[in-house]
Amino acid sequence: MSDPKAHRPSSEKVMLRLKNIHKEYNKDNGNESLSNHIILNKLNLDIKEGEFVTIVGPSGCGKSTLLNLVASMDTHYTGEILINGKPIYESPNTDRVVVFQEGALFPWLTAYKNIEFGLKIAKVPKAKRRESVMRHIRMVQLTSFTHAFIHQLSGGMKQRVAIARALALNPKILLMDEPFAALDVQTRKMLYNQLLTIHQETNKTILFVTHNINEAVALGDRVIVMSPKLANIKKEFTVDIPRPRKIDHPLIDSITKEIVAESEELFVSTTAPESDNALQEHNFVAPMTTH
Ligand code: ADP
Repeated sequence: MSDPKAHRPSSEKVMLRLKNIHKEYNKDNGNESLSNHIILNKLNLDIKEGEFVTIVGPSGCGKSTLLNLVASMDTHYTGEILINGKPIYESPNTDRVVVFQEGALFPWLTAYKNIEFGLKIAKVPKAKRRESVMRHIRMVQLTSFTHAFIHQLSGGMKQRVAIARALALNPKILLMDEPFAALDVQTRKMLYNQLLTIHQETNKTILFVTHNINEAVALGDRVIVMSPKLANIKKEFTVDIPRPRKIDHPLIDSITKEIVAESEELFVSTTAPESDNALQEHNFVAPMTTH
């Protein structure tokens, strides 16, 4: 039986605070008729320790931009990003590690060597590296592929190696940018389950970007919906489904429908003839189960 409090973030402590984040790209050189493109307009967001927050929104609404700012891959913005109350630039980069859509693994190395790579750079002693690599490869259930080369692995396995590699660095915040977007439905479902288990076991703070509302609801404690028109958060939804969570929990579909109903105009052009079909076609609500 599940603990009724188990699905809440374990702490009330704010791990990540975004304060008045403003991000824009400059107008084209010399073309005065174009105004600057504002991507994030005074955005505020707090994420608690251990919380799993998912960000959804149509392509181009600034999800990856936001993630890149938190990862310090882009430092051209105004506003403040704080980790545990301290400015982000005082925090080591390994405090937040990104898992991308294509795992960005080294194809000439084995799964083991890929996971070990960051630990080597961080000068972690060999015995500790080995313990960490093996623990994380077990966590993503790839022990029998420890010494396989990346090209010998399926797409789902590669993403699991990427997740293990990120976790081995023991980040405070795991940043995930559409990590499952290139995978088929069955593989995605398997990885949802695995990621939920990993979150349960490690209690990592996770910020997860997707354009798939079903996915956002299945995984998150909170779903943040972004609007390109506002260049900001349109609305947020709490996903009050107990953890450990089953990805076929009936509330996932009903919360997804609620979000779709409230955000449909963000995802589908007004000329779309049948909005439900259009949403599925564009994979915004790719079905979790085959009916
Ligand atoms: P999302 O992740 O929601 O699909 P992005 O954060 O990738 O959106 O992009 C947000 C907007 O910023 C898009 O309109 C995109 O074209 C624009 N953009 C992204 N990178 C650059 C860049 N280097 N220069 C100019 N515009 C950019």
